Amino acid sequence: MTEQLKPMPEDWRRALAVVAHPDDLEYGCAAAVAGWTDAGREVAYLLATRGEAGIDTLDPETSGPLREREQRASAAAVGVSHVEFLDHRDGVIEYGIPLRRDIAAAIRRHRPELVITLNHRDTWGGVAWNTPDHRAVGRATLDAAADAGNRWIFPELKERGLQPWDGVRWVAVAGSSAPTHAVDATAGLERSVQSLLAHRTYIEVLTDEDPETYCRTFLTGNAEAAADRFGGRPAVPFELFAR
Ligand SMILES: [Zn+2]
Repeated sequence: MTEQLKPMPEDWRRALAVVAHPDDLEYGCAAAVAGWTDAGREVAYLLATRGEAGIDTLDPETSGPLREREQRASAAAVGVSHVEFLDHRDGVIEYGIPLRRDIAAAIRRHRPELVITLNHRDTWGGVAWNTPDHRAVGRATLDAAADAGNRWIFPELKERGLQPWDGVRWVAVAGSSAPTHAVDATAGLERSVQSLLAHRTYIEVLTDEDPETYCRTFLTGNAEAAADRFGGRPAVPFELFAR
């Protein structure tokens, strides 16, 4: 029998999702977010960039504000009203102290028990190479979950009124090639399609298919691919790191 994914922990109230680009959460785990906000949990989004280098036919000055608007609409479709942008440069995000500090500051502001990010590993599994931005933000997020709780690592944050927050209990990585846990995607699946579809400009450039068909096929296929490891239920898998 295929090894089963465990259900994600449910004893938490606030989550902060930290990713590199507009659309990272929508390709990865918006169905899980919809289920969580339905249950009355607070979920906020933090994006390292505005995704301004993501559309070949649009220059960054045009693309950045447009993708920010699409990201806010996309978050609203799954019950998320709080979306922040860090303004690192799309495509060349550097793993390092400034990125860790920015994420730790957001964790101190939001005080989440659960932090979500996207695949920090080199590949998506097999030969599909991951992007440098995803690796940098994923790794910095895993690190910042601990940084946020240590008063001595970024003392300048305390000077800005941000008290240490040592309450992050888990970091859940979406899109990992080594998932351990999952969330039932059934209830949130349709809204996750609408959420991905909100990135309309990006998707219209990406595919010749009808955008709605493209989004539904992609997300349903992914959720069903995880079902044989989650009791036959369509699922959003996560690799869960506990603190
Ligand atoms: Zn991305």
